[in-house]
Amino acid sequence: MSLKCHLLHVCCAPDLVIAYLAGARGDVFFYNPNIHPKEEYEKRKHEVLKVARLFNLEVVEAEYDPENFFKSVRGLEHEPEGGKRCRVCFELRLRKTASVVKELGYASFSTTLTASPKKDVHTVNEVGKTVALETGTVYLANVYRKSPTYNDAQRLTKLLGIYRQNYCGCTFSRRVEQDENSSER
Ligand code: SF4
Repeated sequence: MSLKCHLLHVCCAPDLVIAYLAGARGDVFFYNPNIHPKEEYEKRKHEVLKVARLFNLEVVEAEYDPENFFKSVRGLEHEPEGGKRCRVCFELRLRKTASVVKELGYASFSTTLTASPKKDVHTVNEVGKTVALETGTVYLANVYRKSPTYNDAQRLTKLLGIYRQNYCGCTFSRRVEQDENSSER
């Protein structure tokens, strides 16, 4: 098997723009079974494919298996955003990425999850390193949201008309967002 370079787990198009401007390269892997509902998943995926084409990045196909997410976070439904459920959610996505790294022979992997100002980047990177250790793969830690090109990426995202979601992704984070919006009215 010939060695491929890098597999970049991508959570959404705006974060791919941030990571790319910060220097991230590699094949794009959009594995996010946490996203709910399916129409939202399709919308985010569509935008990621658009940005991948724009930056001339190859895309590795990934399945949408939300039942895997719901099974993994059972019992953690009422956790706040940033709590235990999110750690499980990161792990689910990075374990899948690591399995593809092994299967297709990539040298390393990383994730755009650290581009989001709302994510606990320490936890993301710690999970990435643990998964790599356990699977015999190489995880490249990053903190894309601290990149000096962060503001440029925000401008570019706006300029390109890229869809920017207003909740993290799962049905639980969506509910919180909806509740907050209705209490503001
Ligand atoms: S809030 Fe975001 S990171 Fe946390 S479980 Fe939901 S989708 Fe995953």
